[in-house]
Amino acid sequence: MPPFMMILLWKALTKMAVDLISIDENYKRIMFESGEAMAKYRKPDEKLDIMAVTKTVEPAAVNHAVELGLGLLGENRVQEYLSKKELYDKRAEIQFIGHLQTNKVKYIIDSVSMIQSVDSFKLAAEINKCAAKTGKIQDILIEVNIAGEESKSGVRADKLEELLYQAAELNNIRVKGLMTIPPAENPEIYLYNMQKLYIDISGKNIDNISMDFLSMGMSGDYTDAIKYGSNIIRIGRGLFGPRTYK
Ligand SMILES: *Cc1c(COP(=O)(O)O)cnc(C)c1O
Repeated sequence: MPPFMMILLWKALTKMAVDLISIDENYKRIMFESGEAMAKYRKPDEKLDIMAVTKTVEPAAVNHAVELGLGLLGENRVQEYLSKKELYDKRAEIQFIGHLQTNKVKYIIDSVSMIQSVDSFKLAAEINKCAAKTGKIQDILIEVNIAGEESKSGVRADKLEELLYQAAELNNIRVKGLMTIPPAENPEIYLYNMQKLYIDISGKNIDNISMDFLSMGMSGDYTDAIKYGSNIIRIGRGLFGPRTYK
């Protein structure tokens, strides 16, 4: 091997090693802080899933997180996911959390355990159709735009119940709860509002709808999200470090 290639290889390897060490440290911090928040705010028998959000992250780093025990992966982009999925540790469980176009559902339906980002009847109906073809019942969460932000996806809180009743009619999907991405600025009031909404919907006992999961909390707000009842937190940058794109 020519020396310049040795240098490149060495650089690549040491960068990788350093990245993995920072993932270890981040992992410890997240486990500690989420554990503390669970102890402080929640009942002892309540569970928390910690999802590793993989956008822009190379498969070797993702697999390192799986190795550490973060076996639940969150995928945002269909193309990126398809290019990486064969390289992932086979123990990983994959959930889709990004904006999903109806024409892309067919590419992911056979390999995801849950689609967290369903925000329209049109999308729910397409998932139902693809799930029926695959012979599966697809778990989904409904994504709520809790702050009513124009720029964000998610169903608005005042339209949630209508969508739930419509989704309940579809035989090949099961609504398992709610997901949200609150505004980055002052998320706490929105996390609180989301918890209220979740409890309110749970209390309505809608047929064919279960409220098992409240998915909220990212790198910047996961301890607050735990305070307001989240049982799936979704961590990207806080685990893998900064991203090259959003
Ligand atoms: C990127 C992303 C996350 C993780 O965000 P971080 O701030 O990197 O922790 C969580 N949920 C969704 C839907 C995302 O797109």
